[in-house]
Amino acid sequence: MSRARVLVLNSALGPLDYRVPHGMHVEPGSIVVAPLGPRQLTGVAWEAERMPSDAEVGDNRLRNLLAVADAPPLAAPLRRLVEWTADYYLAPPAAVVRMALSSTSALEGSRTAVEYRATGHVPDRLTPQRAQALERIGDRQGLIRELATIADVSDAVIRGLVKAGAIEGVEVDIDSPFPVPDADHAPPALSDDQRAAADTLVAGVRADAFAPTLLDGVTGSGKTEVYFEAVAEAIRAGRQVLVLLPEIALTEPFLKRFHDRFGCEPVAWHSGLRSTQRRRAWRAISTGEARVTVGARSALFLPYARLGLLVVDEAHETSFKQEDGVHYHARDVAVMRAKFEGCPVILASATPAIETRHQVALGTYAEVKLPARFGAAQMPTIEAIDLIAEPPERGRWLSGRLVGGIAERLEKGEQSLLFLNRRGYAPLTLCRTCGHRFQCPNCTAWMVEHRLTRRLACHHCGHVEPVPRLCPECKEEDTLVACGPGVERIADEVAALFPEAKTAVVTSDTIWSPAKAAEFVGRMEAGDIDIVVGTQLVTKGYHFPNLTLVGVVDADLGLDGGDLRAAERTFQQIRQVSGRAGRGEKPGHVFIQTHAPKAGVMQALVTGDAEAFYAAETEARAEAGAPPFGRYAAIVVSSEDQAAAMETARLVGRAAPEVEGMHVYGPAPAPLAMLRGRHRYRLLVHARRALDVQDVIRAWLGALDWPAKVRVAVDVDPYSF
Ligand code: ADP
Ligand code: ZN
Repeated sequence: MSRARVLVLNSALGPLDYRVPHGMHVEPGSIVVAPLGPRQLTGVAWEAERMPSDAEVGDNRLRNLLAVADAPPLAAPLRRLVEWTADYYLAPPAAVVRMALSSTSALEGSRTAVEYRATGHVPDRLTPQRAQALERIGDRQGLIRELATIADVSDAVIRGLVKAGAIEGVEVDIDSPFPVPDADHAPPALSDDQRAAADTLVAGVRADAFAPTLLDGVTGSGKTEVYFEAVAEAIRAGRQVLVLLPEIALTEPFLKRFHDRFGCEPVAWHSGLRSTQRRRAWRAISTGEARVTVGARSALFLPYARLGLLVVDEAHETSFKQEDGVHYHARDVAVMRAKFEGCPVILASATPAIETRHQVALGTYAEVKLPARFGAAQMPTIEAIDLIAEPPERGRWLSGRLVGGIAERLEKGEQSLLFLNRRGYAPLTLCRTCGHRFQCPNCTAWMVEHRLTRRLACHHCGHVEPVPRLCPECKEEDTLVACGPGVERIADEVAALFPEAKTAVVTSDTIWSPAKAAEFVGRMEAGDIDIVVGTQLVTKGYHFPNLTLVGVVDADLGLDGGDLRAAERTFQQIRQVSGRAGRGEKPGHVFIQTHAPKAGVMQALVTGDAEAFYAAETEARAEAGAPPFGRYAAIVVSSEDQAAAMETARLVGRAAPEVEGMHVYGPAPAPLAMLRGRHRYRLLVHARRALDVQDVIRAWLGALDWPAKVRVAVDVDPYSF
């Protein structure tokens, strides 16, 4: 007879005690089904202990656990990671554990699933809905629910098509094995620099102990080839590897490179997986059969059975910071996971975060450098274009020198990339007659005009409206004007300048899936695109040897706002996008359009003197007591009721404890004062590094009563400060 303490998912409650019925085996980490009120919920046994007798418990009201999953229990290092994450980021442990179980039902007993796909048979009765469904489904496969979503029809339509013989069920084996990568399939001939770097990383895998290493290599130096050697070593040792990528769009090119090197694809983990793919991957990861997993940040909490190496690629990327639900930074959690697993972790980047470089300076992280590009490739030449001295023509955004550069590339049959981190046609649309501006009804944000879809869209909540012909305010016809450029507008300018050129717009609007990314890569490689106009999506990872010109349309864009991280972010982004130029044998050239060519960050980009830039930034951070020297935490109070949000935020401010080494700023309207219909107020806590600021906040917020309609979220180590 025993009882278990269980973290029940979907419950705000802490761990709950249950009785383990006779014959059921439950141990710490076991995945179980527990009754809660009338519901049956998944949970994880956090502690399980023998109970001498019912009498000793003194409580026979404990309810019985209902079932235990036929899956390995979550191992101790993962349970520690869950506890650490919950503790550090002030999140409910159940919300963290949920990420470990993912949306898969680990409890699903059956090892098979039935998916559906089109048979090619056209039903006799072909309603418009049925036709639409068959067209959209094409050769895709999935559960009925998934096909219905793809086709944008009801489940009943899909079931009707099954009855009519146009769609059939196919059995999928959840346990069907993944291929095993071959460590020695196609090892590259490494340069001396690369060999030295790879040897260090391989030695780390052999040592099989916690060791964080920064792999700091310029763009095109072959960081992937180098850390692949460490991956190969882990495969030889029979250990599992996790490679984290910042962007789902980078998965597809990665799979291809991995295949070239190891003879098969790794297991992919991202939000685009179908439910059966997800179940199969989760299972293989938990049994240790999935040898190498590549994934987005959510792959970090999966139950690897024998993790021997973690890699965070493009480790400086901001998308590793999760901003909703559990607010965590995947780069930092990856280091903690490696610590608990007792294995090495590699952070790869050409533009490491100041926080990461600081760890190297302190000696907590080792550093491996790749100072030069691989092979014949040279670093690109970078020049700034002063937009005040050399302004573009009226109504245009590209200066003459940049346009000349593009023309030269077109003549030589080389590719160009124009970078502007703004989706859509124009960031602001207003009425020429009355000055009316289109604002999102749910957010403090302007609606952005998208000409490709003829809509106004809010980039924060996704609200869309058709572009009206009449101004909603003064009712005048055709008076709307676009202010400022977005990528679509730059693409228009390019089309006007070079009508013969083949242009592609690359943003999250056009590349929304790994398949779309693969299609883009294919077209670039085939020379089917001359000029790419893209957002931050094109700044990273890609390798196009024929791309020799990069133009940064507005280098000053990220510098507004006065946030202390702005210069670092601008430096990283422009250096990354510059790194796309001249990666093959042909030399690359970068033009940076700016109004402030004298600014430190622009100078650093032009001269390539990263050290000087980092030194100056680090000093500025030290002076401000900003990270990595001090710490911030943001407390965001939000409600649909503005008065309630403001009142509660003030209450939180008044209740702030006096703590030596801590200062509370605000409350003030949050950087996005309204988001998805909720009014937001922010308090920014600044603390000395040594202070356990989480403990202070826990006690402070824990003592307050919250009105039901108010939500409070804490963001420890917020990205902006
Ligand atoms: P980084 O990630 O540092 O920007 P990559 O790993 O993408 O660089 O390498 C840049 C290009 O050089 C890739 O096409 C890669 O395949 C190639 N490359 C790097 N090292 C080697 C090598 N030792 N042998 C052959 N090709 C290499
Ligand atoms: Zn909005």
